[in-house]
Amino acid sequence: MTEPLISSRHHNRIADLHEEITAWRRDLHQHPEIGFQETRTAAIVAEKLRAFGADQVVTGIATTGVIGIIHGEQDGPMIGLRADMDALPMQEHGDVPWKSVNPGKMHACGHDGHTAMLLGTARILAETRDFAGSVAVIFQPAEEGGGGGGVMVREGLFDVADCTSVWGLHNWPGMPLGQFCALSGPIMAGIDYFDITIKGQGTHAGLPHLGVDTVLAAAHLVTAIQSVPGRNVSPHETATIGVSMFKGSDAYVVMPDEAVIGGSVRYFDSKTRDMAEARIRALAEGIASGFGAEAVIDYRKNYPPTVNHAAETDLAAEVAKGLVGANRVLRESEPCMAGEDFSFMLNERPGNYIWMGTDEPGRNNAMVHYPDYDFNDAAIPVGVGYWLGLVDRLLPRR
Ligand SMILES: [Zn+2]
Ligand SMILES: [Zn+2]
Repeated sequence: MTEPLISSRHHNRIADLHEEITAWRRDLHQHPEIGFQETRTAAIVAEKLRAFGADQVVTGIATTGVIGIIHGEQDGPMIGLRADMDALPMQEHGDVPWKSVNPGKMHACGHDGHTAMLLGTARILAETRDFAGSVAVIFQPAEEGGGGGGVMVREGLFDVADCTSVWGLHNWPGMPLGQFCALSGPIMAGIDYFDITIKGQGTHAGLPHLGVDTVLAAAHLVTAIQSVPGRNVSPHETATIGVSMFKGSDAYVVMPDEAVIGGSVRYFDSKTRDMAEARIRALAEGIASGFGAEAVIDYRKNYPPTVNHAAETDLAAEVAKGLVGANRVLRESEPCMAGEDFSFMLNERPGNYIWMGTDEPGRNNAMVHYPDYDFNDAAIPVGVGYWLGLVDRLLPRR
């Protein structure tokens, strides 16, 4: 196995464990479990943490979440390192030997890699203990839409582990292996969902004048909603609003009583979100009423934006620079319009969520959520080295 260039005082131990952590990662990849159903994964995580000698292992938080607490040789504050454990409900198309054996489920976002890297980190921390304070390793369920990170917070994550700061890491295809990106401020978008039902009067398609056309009203609404990002959102702000679902009648000759549209709002600023929600409601009600129909609006707040704290992000960047060199740590990039429920933890405690590059020439560097994606095991020493570097920096022994 070729090692990427990392500079870490733990380098030798990380190299020793690289193959074993890779085997854990591939086993998790082969047995993917989706949100809140990560029972096998959580059992493996808890069993390994106990075997490593973690001082406390808490299971069953947010159904399948696991928290391990490891105390250092000296007293000090507690920090939280977080990994996500869930897979996606999609069919794997790659042909790796560790391909998913669970039909319709796949580790297409690299959470298998995140879990394995944090387990490897926990093992080294429990072996060495040469830090002042405590490390909580947080393994959360259901990042992919279920909001498991938020559920863990609501179910007392920070009562179990009173962290002074929290830290996240995501593998990032599109960036080369050995590169990091530490962005201050918003890095991932907030996401809301909406469903709007236009209720009217169904009729025979040949007798439109006897009904109230809900499909026509809904079609106008789809067009009008695009005026919100185009005309209401400040040119200096960002929001993406997409109607992705449209359901009318099942027959050519039947005009339906109801037409239903649904979609998402993605944003970085909560004022923009509140405005977008208000505009969507006003447009739905006004357009429906103009056509003699009625709008029933179900608007649901989902993930808040992931906003990195400035001081912690500077510190994360310093740790990454120490590991891979200053020229391989980006401090500027476009934030991503996808969501991330680590946001719920960052809303409670200061911290940072960093992107770690994984691309290598000649390798399948498929993007996350693609059916031929596979986490790059060559990134394992980089991720483990980053976590250990954070602990060295945040909890130095006196
Ligand atoms: Zn994902
Ligand atoms: Zn992910």
